[in-house]
Amino acid sequence: MVEDLCALHAELPRNGLVVWTSGNASARVPGGMLIKPSGVPYDELTPESMVLCDLDGAPLTDSLAPSSDAATHGFIYQHMPEVGGIVHTHSPYATAWAVRGEPIPCVMTAMADEFGGEIPVGPFALIGDEAIGRGIVETLEGHNSPAVLMRAHGVFTIGSTAKDAIKAAVMCEDVARTVHLARALGDVVPLDPESIEALHDRYQNVYGQR
Ligand SMILES: [Zn+2]
Repeated sequence: MVEDLCALHAELPRNGLVVWTSGNASARVPGGMLIKPSGVPYDELTPESMVLCDLDGAPLTDSLAPSSDAATHGFIYQHMPEVGGIVHTHSPYATAWAVRGEPIPCVMTAMADEFGGEIPVGPFALIGDEAIGRGIVETLEGHNSPAVLMRAHGVFTIGSTAKDAIKAAVMCEDVARTVHLARALGDVVPLDPESIEALHDRYQNVYGQR
């Protein structure tokens, strides 16, 4: 698990989702969670540097300090039992929508597939405060989307595994960019709810290898 989470962190810079030491990923493990250490560059991460924490964000071993978002990740795990992995980034196109406080409308099939509707905006909250975790949970519980744009901050994504959460973060940035480009060309029209539901259902239940 530590090797997996360390390797998955490499996907964040590889997909252009993070710069310097920003962003983080975590995975639920028995008794707590594993998360990125605070302030360590991505190319210096090792399996040993992943921090084992309880779900209040406190380290359980003598280790590096965990990400400053550890308590937020823990809050999500405590309140969403189906979640096994969480990713946080300030990826630029998605964060531009978050800065505007504007949900990304569901205007393309790939968005209906992955997000099952719009990508919603959550409230502004200060880092380290429980309000940010609560804002993420309350926003995601009202939507199909595994991604939420936290106002004036960035993106949090969830998945049944850390890999699923990484995929959602990559797809969120991809659709944020495409919808931005489309809107620069003119008006965009959201898909109708029936088509969104049919696409989402097919993608979640039929698409890919079984
Ligand atoms: Zn952040």
